[in-house]
Amino acid sequence: MTVPHFLNSRQSPSDSSDLSKSDPDAPLVLIVDDNWLIQDLLRQMMEKDGYQVVIANSGQQALEVFARLQPDIVLLDASMPVMDGYTCCQLIQALPGGDRTPVLMITALEDTESVNRVFEAGAIDFVTKPINWAVLRQRVKRLLQQANLYKQLQTANSELQRLVSIDSLTQVANRRCFDETLEHELVRMSREQMPLALILCDVDFFKLYNDTYGHLEGDWCLKKIARAISDAVCRPGDLVARYGGEEFAIILPRTDAAGAVEVAKRVRNSVNQLQIPHSASQVSDYITVSMGITCTLPGEEVTPAKLIRAADIGLYRAKAQGRDRHSDLETTAE
Ligand code: GH3
Ligand code: MG
Ligand code: MG
Repeated sequence: MTVPHFLNSRQSPSDSSDLSKSDPDAPLVLIVDDNWLIQDLLRQMMEKDGYQVVIANSGQQALEVFARLQPDIVLLDASMPVMDGYTCCQLIQALPGGDRTPVLMITALEDTESVNRVFEAGAIDFVTKPINWAVLRQRVKRLLQQANLYKQLQTANSELQRLVSIDSLTQVANRRCFDETLEHELVRMSREQMPLALILCDVDFFKLYNDTYGHLEGDWCLKKIARAISDAVCRPGDLVARYGGEEFAIILPRTDAAGAVEVAKRVRNSVNQLQIPHSASQVSDYITVSMGITCTLPGEEVTPAKLIRAADIGLYRAKAQGRDRHSDLETTAE
């Protein structure tokens, strides 16, 4: 049995006589070829251009190395025994990160059928044998630049996605995210025939707080309250959002009435424990909140608007009954 020639210059730069002298942050090139002579030439070329190199002798080994090291680009020989480059390329696409990693195929032929096979397998480009080294190096350089730009775009996109759903002051979900989530969860809970609870939470005498301590202090207070509410809400599927001004909303999927009341109690405790002085409050020396709770087993007749209205009625009642409390459960029935 032959021992596969397998060098990972990213992982073991110090224990190999063949080690890459490239920067550890340099792009990692996975070379897949069953011919050791071509492997070596490719490696030399890539290392000369400052890349790190890892080599696989077969398609099967390439898949294993790809999954483990997530290279930045793959140079893949089309013609190999057992698993050819086309099959290997297709299987790479299905691995995590595989659809984002450029595969440059090295083919012997440039006829229509070979070219079609290259692209159908998911490779981004190809070079033919005998390899024109200048062409290969330029293609690798360009593909790595493109892949890098794509990565930056993805990072910017996910940051943008985060920003459009977060309330900038309190860092909890914003109204837009709340609206989308409530709609979505109603449908989901209806499908799963599971209960959904909603809590609306309003800061007591907050206008007086602003009048007494100033608007900036008011902003700080809202941040602390948002944090306290979030701390009281545990399940990953729950959502705390700033519904507006000094009002917060909590969506609790798969939560029945008793569970919602439990969460409301925790929220009240959590806010009370902040002990933020509020000398103008008529119910406490500290900042307090009032809450309206509703719970439903979603069906076609339950809409987001009905749910919000029910929670709002409960909130109004909690205010009327003296604030610093949660209401009894409010049903969505008209
Ligand atoms: P209640 O106990 O009945 O809820 O009385 P309240 O004073 O809290 O209610 P009201 O609706 O009269 O006042 C809400 C106040 O919340 C008025 C507004 O200035 C303040 N507010 C809303 N958004 C913000 C904000 O982003 N920052 C600050 N500092 N204050 C805000
Ligand atoms: Mg209010
Ligand atoms: Mg208020």
